[in-house]
Amino acid sequence: MTCTSAYHDQLIEVRRHLHTMPEEGWSEFTTTAFVIGKLREYGYEVLTGTKVINPDNCLGRNPKVVEAGLAYARANGVSEELLAEMEGYTGCVGVLDTGRPGPTLAVRFDIDCVPVTESTEGDHLPAKEGFVSTRPGLMHACGHDAHTSTGLAVAHWFADNKDQMKGRIKILFQPAEEGVRGAAGMAASGVVDDADFFLSSHIAMMCKSGEMSINPYGFLCTTKLDVTYTGRPAHAGVEPNAGRNAMAAACNAFVQLLGIARHGSGMTRINVGQLNAGEGRNVIPSKAVMKMEVRGETGEINQYMYDSAVAIIKGCALAQGCEYTIEKMGEAVDLTNDPELVAVLKDAGEAVPGLKVCEEPMNFGGSEDATILARRVQAHGGKAAFFVLGSDRPSGHHTARFDIQEKDLDTGLAVWANVIGRILG
Ligand SMILES: [Zn+2]
Repeated sequence: MTCTSAYHDQLIEVRRHLHTMPEEGWSEFTTTAFVIGKLREYGYEVLTGTKVINPDNCLGRNPKVVEAGLAYARANGVSEELLAEMEGYTGCVGVLDTGRPGPTLAVRFDIDCVPVTESTEGDHLPAKEGFVSTRPGLMHACGHDAHTSTGLAVAHWFADNKDQMKGRIKILFQPAEEGVRGAAGMAASGVVDDADFFLSSHIAMMCKSGEMSINPYGFLCTTKLDVTYTGRPAHAGVEPNAGRNAMAAACNAFVQLLGIARHGSGMTRINVGQLNAGEGRNVIPSKAVMKMEVRGETGEINQYMYDSAVAIIKGCALAQGCEYTIEKMGEAVDLTNDPELVAVLKDAGEAVPGLKVCEEPMNFGGSEDATILARRVQAHGGKAAFFVLGSDRPSGHHTARFDIQEKDLDTGLAVWANVIGRILG
């Protein structure tokens, strides 16, 4: 099989290219076009648009962001033909069948960025080396540029070695991971339903360069909600009694939401991060919009938080005579790695010289919507696992000076090749 070090230049070049042009969730048309081009070059069948995203299950897809993404793609010279293939939905799946009987392996890489303005200070490596984000307010500050680059290198390596492989690989390039929005639509498209195995990974997080965690835990289940209260405006002096106060409903709900009783069986979180309400000083406020989220250690605990929140939201609407709507904007679930795949990861990691495989449970400490795809595969009888590939970072995820160590991309590709070789080799 081809030595993975042969893909070093590609890994760096692609990562740096993508780093200059970050795109936020559901607007990644230029990135998707780039990925499609590469996959076709390597000989993959590429599925796009509604073949990989079910529009009924798209969470948190803002039409204005989609429009801006399309305009950016056109400005970047992405063809109308390719945009038509995407049908307005970003992300794609590359499929390569070896023609020999064997399992179907689905692997998933995310492609979106974070709304952060990147540092241009001289000691920040992307600035120093000339691949800093060219888009103020947007930055690959979570390493998804590294993920996309790794996914393409995996695709290239597999295509080069397909004569020594069996079965079929499906490489998912998932949009809108930030805010845990994109996986639900991809899962609902059915694209992983025939997968016998599913694997995904994140770079850095709680692991240092030279480490790999094969047993991460603490993927908090979460539901992101937009709550809209609609009341009735009225003159605050002449007849306030005719109004229905949406702001009062929202403010009461806000205070009560923070007071939901903690759950005895595990961790919970709740946050109302934004509240916009009202029209003006002398008008009874007729509209209020709250952006909020709940989290729980397990699906059951998250459901408890969600149900409790809905009861409060409803009660506060009733108290003020207002209407309310609740829109789900994002979702992730928990995950337990299947032991069969943990054993494969251990074996694959230990075969990489100098890499320390951490078997003890390590707290991932965030939410990750790969869990939705993983659970979908498990629900259809397949096996799933998630691992973390370490990388030293000068600053935390989602900050202006976030960066990864590019040498760790080589390690990551070696791990992926070992894993794939053990499943499809
Ligand atoms: Zn991330």
